[in-house]
Amino acid sequence: MRTDYLVIGAGATALAFVDTVFAGTDATFTIVDRRDAPGGHWNDAYSFVRLHQPGWMYGVPSQPFGSLDVEESGPNRGFTPLASGVEVTDHFHRFLRETLLPSGRVTYLPLSEYREGRAVSLLSGESTEVEATTVVDATLLEATIPLTHEPSFLVADGAVCVPPNSLARTAPRHDHFAVLGAGKTALDVVTWLLVNGARPEQITWVRPREAWLYGRDLFQPGGGLHGRHRRRAGPAVRRHGRGSTAR
Ligand SMILES: Cc1cc2nc3c(=O)[nH]c(=O)nc-3n(C[C@H](O)[C@H](O)[C@H](O)COP(=O)(O)OP(=O)(O)OC[C@H]3O[C@@H](n4cnc5c(N)ncnc54)[C@H](O)[C@@H]3O)c2cc1C
Repeated sequence: MRTDYLVIGAGATALAFVDTVFAGTDATFTIVDRRDAPGGHWNDAYSFVRLHQPGWMYGVPSQPFGSLDVEESGPNRGFTPLASGVEVTDHFHRFLRETLLPSGRVTYLPLSEYREGRAVSLLSGESTEVEATTVVDATLLEATIPLTHEPSFLVADGAVCVPPNSLARTAPRHDHFAVLGAGKTALDVVTWLLVNGARPEQITWVRPREAWLYGRDLFQPGGGLHGRHRRRAGPAVRRHGRGSTAR
């Protein structure tokens, strides 16, 4: 197989790269990913995951994403919506299906692993040599998520260790929860438990370190940090013709 760009990975990083070069050239692309769908780790995300910033700041630049409406109720009241995991994966799925594949310039090899110049099907074992002008490794920010990795610690007898993906199904059977980690996923789990009625004394939160948290109001269109920066730096790039800005 011959291609201009062999892209390893089909996550957000890979697709943002392909989107940018695709728009400005006639180049051909071969995208190889171990997963069976584009969007990387978002395909394995837990049901209550949300983008932690407004959608218009995320995704592939050429495609509209996220709404500029302001939510009227709930924990995100007063701010633009946080897209659900399903909406994020849909954004990437549609981009591949509706823009890249119909062009005839993009070959997508899902459930395939890149190994030293070859794309190897994880199902059949079939190996295809790919001759590329440029190999782009878009896996360097690959996310490690609980669902697809074994825990790196021992679990005490009697304790049940589950990834956040199983929580909605299994939480009603438990009366105490130890949440491990100080990142976005752990914050989501603690918030989800509280919003769904768990009492604070039912939750033990184990944090290996403090996390940096930014107020969401700093990242709203037309105001906050973004607006302040824009006032200092002059007009930013307009995106999708919808009055939002991308940096
Ligand atoms: C739960 C969660 C929520 C997040 N929320 C946000 C958010 O709200 N905002 C934000 O900005 N960021 C967020 N992030 C950070 C996130 O990592 C990035 O936004 C982005 O999705 C990362 O994309 P990626 O393509 O670099 O990595 P990934 O999505 O991990 O994709 C890498 C891909 O490479 C493939 N791959 C790796 N090695 C090979 C190989 N040898 N051959 C073939 N394929 C291979 C993998 O199968 C994978 O699909 C979140 C991360 C997690 C885990």
